[in-house]
Amino acid sequence: LPDSAAKLEQTLSNKGVKFLMASFSDMHGVSKTKIVPLDHIGQMLAGSELYTGAALDGVPQDVSDEEVSAHPDPASCTILPWQPEVAWFASDLWCEGAPFEPCSRNILKRQIDAAAELGFAMKFGMEAEFFVFKDTENGGYEPLSTLPHLDKPAYDATRLLDNLPWLSDLVDAMNGLGWGVYSFDHEDGIGQFEIDFNYADALTMADRYVFFRFMANSIARQHGAFATFMPKPLGDRAGSGAHFNMSLADSETGENLFASPSDDRGNKLSQLGYYFLGGLLRHVPAICAVCSPMVNSYKRLIKQGSMSGFTWAPVFACYGNNNRTNSLRIPLAGGRVELRPADSSCNPYLGAALALAAGLEGIREKVDPGEPYRENMYKKTPEELDALGVKLLPRTLEEAVDAFEADPLTKQVFGPAMHEAWIDFKRDEWSSYHNHVSDWERDRYLKFF
Ligand code: GLU
Ligand code: MG
Ligand code: MG
Repeated sequence: LPDSAAKLEQTLSNKGVKFLMASFSDMHGVSKTKIVPLDHIGQMLAGSELYTGAALDGVPQDVSDEEVSAHPDPASCTILPWQPEVAWFASDLWCEGAPFEPCSRNILKRQIDAAAELGFAMKFGMEAEFFVFKDTENGGYEPLSTLPHLDKPAYDATRLLDNLPWLSDLVDAMNGLGWGVYSFDHEDGIGQFEIDFNYADALTMADRYVFFRFMANSIARQHGAFATFMPKPLGDRAGSGAHFNMSLADSETGENLFASPSDDRGNKLSQLGYYFLGGLLRHVPAICAVCSPMVNSYKRLIKQGSMSGFTWAPVFACYGNNNRTNSLRIPLAGGRVELRPADSSCNPYLGAALALAAGLEGIREKVDPGEPYRENMYKKTPEELDALGVKLLPRTLEEAVDAFEADPLTKQVFGPAMHEAWIDFKRDEWSSYHNHVSDWERDRYLKFF
């Protein structure tokens, strides 16, 4: 055993760990795994665990191809707070002795390296919004709280406290892992919550978000419930975002290069931050395809929920100050840029990789985003938006995939194999939805004439 593996084995053994998860993320950002007993840690870290790519969505492999192997990152080692005899690892995939190009985590690492070449390290925070429901006997689902539903449950204290048993287990688990939760609340959907925790470097945050979905579900299950990261489970309520908060630090000194005490556009963002934002704005339709990756994602990107007023979800490809009706926002505290299209179903490695690449292009090409919009963009008429040159974000997954395919940056970032596999998968997903005849259609049209 190499020294470091022997040390890790000892530490884990002292903590009662018996099993190791050699996990990696599939194209959806879902953790897939084999479990290895602790005494095999040396082999596991050296890449002993093999996976058949053809068994998974989006891995461009044939059944006859060489298997991919997981190379676990020791820095990601996380003892499951709810099942402490097991430790989870995020892994890079390899194939035939080299990093596997279409692996999500490798795709992000390539962009992190591109940033490092320019002297930058990306800092990344994701806001975790999700719903927690329990199954009902008739095959439906409902929130845990049995209190009457409110039209506007945002920030509701009673329902938040009613959910505290599972929330407190989840928040304890996050803090036990050193994630630094700083607040959580009831959001605007029935049974919807948000937990906010400290930002980190991009790779760590992406690993954490993938782990978070797994952990939130596991802990909810211990309370007879489940967590859903479906972006829009209730058609008439707000959906779940996973807003990306991004900044670049100097990779030597750690100084936040987006911070500025004030700027002449009324925010607190440096010129470098504006260029990064300019790059994001240029590529935001393609970014939507990755950050809002499901058919259901586009049911979130509307301005009005019929029950609870505005949805706070982005609709237009424009940026503003602390104003939530834009896709890109410079929060009041400044020093960072918020990308709001990102939703709870995204693969954070792929989303962060494309967003970072777009921002770096903005910096290289000095793309200035112009003046921020300060008004409520939701209230603008189509004519006013036209006059301002403000375009809508993609309205459906199909439009988003078209934008993804038309944008040359996406192939550079994903690499040709993942690019093609991803487009094929998402086009299939769209046609499967589009070809389905729903109850809504039958109710509306079957006896129309
Ligand atoms: N739930 C809203 C969304 O979809 C965001 C609300 C907020 O700004 O926290 O994006
Ligand atoms: Mg929120
Ligand atoms: Mg936000």
